[in-house]
Parts: sequence; structure tokens; C-alpha cells
Amino acid sequence: HAKAGRTMCTELPENGCVNVSYRTVLSDSTTISEYITSVMKKDNDSVGDFVKPRTVAHLTEPGSEYLSSMWGTWASGFCTVPLATSHRAHEFEHVLKDADPEIIIIGGHLSRGEGTSGKARTLPPHNEGELLQAANAVGMADRIVYLRDLIHTNAEMAAGERTSENDINEQYNLGANGSIHSLDSPSMIMYTSGTTGLPKGVLTSHRNVHHQITDLVAAWQWQPTDVALHLLPLHHVHGAINILSCAAYAGACCEFMHFRCDNVWKRLAEAAQEEKGDKPTPNVLMAVPTIYSKMIEAAEHNVLEPGTVEDAVKTLSNMRLMISGSAALPVSLNEKWKNLTGHTLLERYGMTEFAMALSNPYEPMSKRLPGYVGTPLPSVEVRIVDEDNNAISPESGNSGELQVRGPNVFQCYLNRPDVTAKEFANDGSGFFKTGDIACYDKENKSFKILGRASVDIIKNGGHKLSALEIERDLLEHPFIAECAVLGVPDETWGERVGMVCRLKGGETDLNIENLRCWAEHRMARYKVPSRIVVLDEIPKNAMGKINKKSLKSLFQERLS
Ligand code: ATP
Ligand code: MG
Repeated sequence: HAKAGRTMCTELPENGCVNVSYRTVLSDSTTISEYITSVMKKDNDSVGDFVKPRTVAHLTEPGSEYLSSMWGTWASGFCTVPLATSHRAHEFEHVLKDADPEIIIIGGHLSRGEGTSGKARTLPPHNEGELLQAANAVGMADRIVYLRDLIHTNAEMAAGERTSENDINEQYNLGANGSIHSLDSPSMIMYTSGTTGLPKGVLTSHRNVHHQITDLVAAWQWQPTDVALHLLPLHHVHGAINILSCAAYAGACCEFMHFRCDNVWKRLAEAAQEEKGDKPTPNVLMAVPTIYSKMIEAAEHNVLEPGTVEDAVKTLSNMRLMISGSAALPVSLNEKWKNLTGHTLLERYGMTEFAMALSNPYEPMSKRLPGYVGTPLPSVEVRIVDEDNNAISPESGNSGELQVRGPNVFQCYLNRPDVTAKEFANDGSGFFKTGDIACYDKENKSFKILGRASVDIIKNGGHKLSALEIERDLLEHPFIAECAVLGVPDETWGERVGMVCRLKGGETDLNIENLRCWAEHRMARYKVPSRIVVLDEIPKNAMGKINKKSLKSLFQERLS
């Protein structure tokens, strides 16, 4: 799906632009593939299987070198393991021991300019030291290779550029010359966010990844002319599949930036000027709710240079598509975004284990429902089951566990056959148990996520309360900037509602009494938090997710 000649990505706009074409990515991946093939000899043509896949890990900054490393690994027939640029040594240790990569690629010297504006990038990922420490600790230091040593000189780089389209096509011809053997061989190991425990290695086949991508390209109508503003890490499906791989499949372009609120506002404002010229400007934005929330806060508090928001809003209003996912998007946040840009964000639901399953419609925008996650993607089937695994009729509107089946669903958790067996329904149907509670709203013809069964469903007396729904309501409170609702053990009620929150700038006066008064006409009494902890910042992971298990212990500490 390479579109030779086209710009595949633009990196580091804040440090001078580097444009990289599809042809460059392909010729780089050819070089990487040749190296991998020379080091990882195949016994009996083995690329491993779903029990013991043979893997190549790579630590690369978001950008073209990520794609070259991934495609290079695939072209040599092995399984890719993207490492996180936010991870510390102990997290790398877990991944290295689990995935046992035979080669560990460290990026930092592959991207370079094409044309006059470009300049080579020489910095390795900033957490390289953490990876080295981990590799030493697990005895894998000799498996490390630097991209800068694979691609030596500018002359060689230029020679790589001359690789003809035919050579590339030959190299990537599936099945030929040691490349991908079959769509049913191991493709990728992506680690879950670790919200509910140690991250699990999710092993997918090429067929899985193919369906994950093609479903989204169709549903969201990716075009070769699209330019996605890419702000997310690439060790999760959101950044790696939904944005980067879909863009690559469609022959579109990604513009990479590390997320910093003021930089993003500035970039969007600049793009409004560029729109007047012929340079393509970002027209697709996908992000997590925290990013949208931080951007709105910055705009509301006037912390940006005068005129920035006004200009940036011109770019945002002209965008083709803006999406939110990875965590629940509060209705009030979607409404604020609409007031600012005229767009209702498209919310979708997914998981590392199957990428995306449910999505609001692309068109018409008026059918995107805040608070809902839409309907199944073309190749995905879903069902809702009760506690005995009996299917609940969607028409009943009752809630239960959401289960997912389809060619996008992963093969297994690496080295965890016990967990894999437990997480698929034991009725032989092949449905994967998401652990998320959902219901179908027949009037709106859309699914709603009520939260994770393990931490978001609060059992209060006879009621089962959805923490996500209570959070949505509480965010309407004029003082509350962010909140996380959780169950706090209670002798009488089983659990009571607790809330950890961050208050809007300057507000200090939030107590249970005034919260009760405010909530009186808005929610049932038993839903109003009876324990509150106010923090300056709610801790989150690289995907902006709140780890409620660790918040629960913090809650206990503060209240004891
Ligand atoms: P771990 O499996 O290690 O505990 P994790 O489940 O957070 O971590 P991911 O696969 O990155 O790892 O996240 C998937 C989860 O994110 C889903 O199970 C769901 O709880 C949540 N999620 C994703 N999209 C949405 C959404 N639109 N609304 C609500 N929750 C969502
Ligand atoms: Mg999970």
C-alpha cells in the first residue's frame, strides 16, 4: 500500500520540519529487513508461532522510523514489538522478559529531510537509558542495534532513495523471499495499558491487523489527501493502528508532534495561514479525552497569545474528522468542543485486544451521539451477556458484559494461556469477554459503555451504579475540572460512592454539603459522592487513563 513519492509523514514541526516520503520509509525498511534476516536465521523456515513467536522490538519516536522498523520486521517475516517512549526500566524489563526479542532496535538516526527544509535527526528516544538498563538487567544488551548503524552515511541514504518501485514491490510481495509467510502468522505484540494489572502482551496475526485497519479506513473514509495531526504514543492501538496504520494504508500523511497544549494550539493557528497556500494542512485529529479537555481549559483561561485560538479554530472547523477514544468522553466536554469548533467529536470504543469494535457514524455528524459509542464496525459482532453468560436481548436495554467477535480479535495473550482461556466465553462461540459493562439504547440505536466491571460498577445496597455516568453528571458542577468516581468499601452499603477530583483554577471550597445541595435535583441521593479527595493533579498513564485501582489505595490512605 505504499504510495511512492508521496509524503508519508512530517516530523517535529517545532524543531524544523522533516518530510519523509513513502519511498524512503520503504527503502529504509528494506535495509532493516536485510539486517534482521541476516541476524535471525530461520531454522526450518521458522518465524515462530502463536505460542513462541520470534520477535523484534523497537524503541522509536513517533514518526517514519517506527513504520520502517515495523515494516522491516514484517518483510523479514517476524513479529514486531513496539516499545513505549514513556516507559521506565522496570516496565521495559517486564516487556523484554515476556516478548524475548532477538533484536532490539533503537531509533534516532533514520529520519532526514528531503528537499531544502529537512535536516537529519540524531537524537535517540529520550528514555534510551532506561531501555539499556533493562536490557542489561535481563541479559539482552547484546541484542541492541541502533538504526544509525544500519544506515551509515548520507551517500548510502541517497542510494536507498533510488530503490525502484519494482524492487520494493518484489521485496514486499507476500510470501516471496522470506517475507510475510501467511496472513495467519504472528504480526504484532502490543501491550495493554496496565490499568487493571500488569500489562498483557496482546498477540495479533496479520489477518487481525488487516481487518483492524480496513474496517476503520472504510468507516471513517480515510483518503490519500488526508493529513492527520498525530499527538499520541505509538505503543497502543489508538496511535499505531487507528491513526498511523490507517493513514499508511490510505496513502495519507501524518504530522507528528509531542502533545503540549500550547504547541498544538500554535500549530493549528499556523495551519490556518497555510490553508491559504497549497501546502496540505491537518484535516484529521484523533485524541484521548484528556487532550481535548486540556485544550479547552487552555483556551478558556486565555493562557495563549492573543489571536491563537481564533486562528486555530479556523483550522479545527475545517477539519474532515475529529475523534475521541481510549476512555469515556464526558458529554459536557463534547458539547464544549462543539461550541468552540462546530464539530461533534466522533466517539468510538476499542481495546488493545481487537482495536476498534464500536463507532459513532462518520456521516451525518448530527447522528453522532455524545455519551454513546455507536454501532459495530463492518466485520465486528457484539453481544451483551448477563452474569451467567446468557445473551441479553439488545432491545431490552438491560446492561451486561460486552463481548466481541470478529477477524479483528487477537490470537492470545503472550505466555498467558490461562488468562487467554479465561477471557474468551466458555460456550465455544469465540466471543471475547471485554470486562466492560454496556447497554444498547434502542431509541438512539447506539451502544453506551457503563464502565469496567472490576472498578467502574459500584455496588451500593441494591443498586449497581456506573461510575462513568456519575462522572458525566459531576462534571457539570461549576468547580469540578476533572473527576474519577469509585466505590469505597462500606459496612452497611457494601460500597459507597467516592470521588477524587481536581478543581478549576482558584476554587477551593468543595465539600460534601455543598455538593449535596448542588446535586439534589440532578441525581439520586445515593449517587452523590459521600467521600471526596481533592488533588492538584489526578495521576494518569501515557494514554491519559486513570488507574482506579491505585486511586482506591490513595483514597484509603487519605481517609484513614
Ligand atoms: P489493562 O487491560 O492492562 O488493564 P486497559 O484495558 O486500559 O489496560 P486498553 O486496551 O488500552 O488497556 O484499554 C481498553 C479499555 O479502555 C476498554 O476496555 C475500556 O474500558 C476503555 N475504553 C476505550 N474506549 C472507551 C470509550 N469510548 N468509553 C469508555 N471506555 C473506553
Ligand atoms: Mg484491558
